[in-house]
Amino acid sequence: MRIIYEQKEMQGIADKYRNWDKTIGFVATMGYLHEGHLSLIREAKKDNDVVFVSIFVNPTQFSPDEDLDKYPRDFKRDEEMLKKEGVDFLFYPTVETMYPKNFQTYINVEELTKVLEGQSRPTHFRGVTTIVAKLFNITKPHKAYFGQKDAQQLIVIKRMVEDLNIDIEIVGMPIVRENDGLAMSSRNKYLSDKEREQAVCLHQALEKAKEMIDAGNYDVQKIKQEMEKVIYNYSIPKIDYISISNLTTLQELSQVEPSNTLISMAVFIGKTRLIDNLWI
Ligand code: AMP
Repeated sequence: MRIIYEQKEMQGIADKYRNWDKTIGFVATMGYLHEGHLSLIREAKKDNDVVFVSIFVNPTQFSPDEDLDKYPRDFKRDEEMLKKEGVDFLFYPTVETMYPKNFQTYINVEELTKVLEGQSRPTHFRGVTTIVAKLFNITKPHKAYFGQKDAQQLIVIKRMVEDLNIDIEIVGMPIVRENDGLAMSSRNKYLSDKEREQAVCLHQALEKAKEMIDAGNYDVQKIKQEMEKVIYNYSIPKIDYISISNLTTLQELSQVEPSNTLISMAVFIGKTRLIDNLWI
């Protein structure tokens, strides 16, 4: 695996593979890798001739009161994991090269980013879409892989790609979970042992919702109430939001629409804000 720090060099390598008619699969990450990331990489390996992965903790998607400085990092461990997976190129740029002094261009997906995560984190998606567009221009992939774990992010990126005629296929991949159901996340590292036990409440609440929907109960208010009960059973967690929305528009529903509903949530476990979701 070659590690590339410079944008121009990465672009040159992408051009070379494209000229050879090789397909490029790309996975963008913020590092501190886990099986969720690896599932995207394995799918990219299956589908493409070469795989590029990026590691970049993107400052523009964190607000000043968020965990940018504390965000977990372990480059050596990540590097070993990526080598083992047979990744061809790791793009590992610095903040200074990605956001030089004169940087002033941002991408904004309008309506889809006003709700859910965007409501709690108003500047988050502008940072995400901007960095993803930059990474697409640098790695020039044919296909890019994103996790359903960040459901709104996936939906927003698909919108951006369609709206801006970006010639890349966006592939969404299922959420990889721990044995007890907790969605894998780099942020799980912040949890104390007690919090780690409480953190299963997100998945349990989603399971409750699924159970109700499978039994034919489509009333959103009732489902949300039951989900809240499950979460408050674990005593401390603070709910940021529970949403049952249309999967395409992300607008809130009053009745579950089979095959077109996203149930998503953000819950504080202590100081750590965790998200999880279920695609119906
Ligand atoms: P991150 O490093 O958190 O920015 O995540 C990089 C990519 O991995 C994003 O597309 C995430 O949605 C995806 N991802 C993170 N956690 C999981 C998971 N548990 N299962 C599947 N994909 C994930």
